Amino acid sequence: MQSISLEQLRNLLQQTPMMVQMHPLSLAFLTDEVQVFAAAEELVAALDAPDPQPEVPTVALTFDERFAHRLPSVRCDHDPFTTELNRFLLPKIDWVQRWVLCQSQIPKVICQRASGDCIVLILVDGLSFYDWKRFARESEAPPELFTFEPCFVDGVSITEHGMRRIVGEPTVALQLTELGYRRSFGFSYWERTDNELTDRLFAGITEGVHRVKSFDEVLEQLPKLPLDGSFVQIVRQGLDQVGHRYRDRPNIAATVRQIFDELRQLQRCLAEKELTATIFLTADHGILWSHEHDLKLYEAGVSHVPPRYYEGLRSGEGIWRVQFEGNDFSVLTYPFVRRKLRSDEWGVHGGLSFEESLVSFVTAQVTSSEL
Ligand SMILES: [Zn+2]
Repeated sequence: MQSISLEQLRNLLQQTPMMVQMHPLSLAFLTDEVQVFAAAEELVAALDAPDPQPEVPTVALTFDERFAHRLPSVRCDHDPFTTELNRFLLPKIDWVQRWVLCQSQIPKVICQRASGDCIVLILVDGLSFYDWKRFARESEAPPELFTFEPCFVDGVSITEHGMRRIVGEPTVALQLTELGYRRSFGFSYWERTDNELTDRLFAGITEGVHRVKSFDEVLEQLPKLPLDGSFVQIVRQGLDQVGHRYRDRPNIAATVRQIFDELRQLQRCLAEKELTATIFLTADHGILWSHEHDLKLYEAGVSHVPPRYYEGLRSGEGIWRVQFEGNDFSVLTYPFVRRKLRSDEWGVHGGLSFEESLVSFVTAQVTSSEL
């Protein structure tokens, strides 16, 4: 199949409906409106219908040999998950939410994909899809056991909201009980004083929360637990703390690789116990690194405020208005900040940007002891 650029696709679509293998989010980069059909069959049905023909360019996202004589088929390798996406996040926010897994859908997705003797959820505090993509060495993971997908933080990209969206209400732990995972264990090595949030995240965990200092302790304690028919939730530090206060330039790559290596170790640990399992890993939000971006002041003269969002409703350009549990928030888009950043503030989050608002959602399977 011929591979074309987004620009070539734009031109071809002016001439004919097409079957295109691509990430539909790339269509957000086209200024023109495009009508999308998930299946080629639906596109052909629309073309053959006696109704008025679609007036905008039309695309089917699957290749179907039955219609190869009617519709040209191409592949477009454009990658929408780059910092370029910042130009389209707000204007095409509905499109993003339509075609990218949203954080608030995660509890449902976990329940749908849960299979095996044991389910594990690893919650990382601060890890962007971008940092994961550039440093995690995904290629070293056996593709048949792993899926990596971007996930959109559909709200304010702060810890409390993100974490709560991921565990859901009622919590994943409680929802999995219905699926037969009746016992649940918590592990936390999260240096946070916010005990209320920690309690909320571990609500419904039946066997208590183990406070640990490192992942090695998790690996040491896990094999001693009766994991068959169990759910394990692990909350760990990511890059959030590093972003807020850190003397030296943070080593993003090392942190990401460590998280990835730990995931692989956990997979082996469960396999050695001869358990089958599904492990999920995701983060509450990403980080917009100030040393990698040219951030601009949105307004002058305020300090001690969250750099990337306002509580309440605000009008103005470049603001995304969202609600969380009945409260209004106004979220800044890229590349604005409300105040000057301190010299030890390496990154920010809370706003709407590719870097903050896209995190990874990893699904890893444990199927045998041959890892
Ligand atoms: Zn966080």
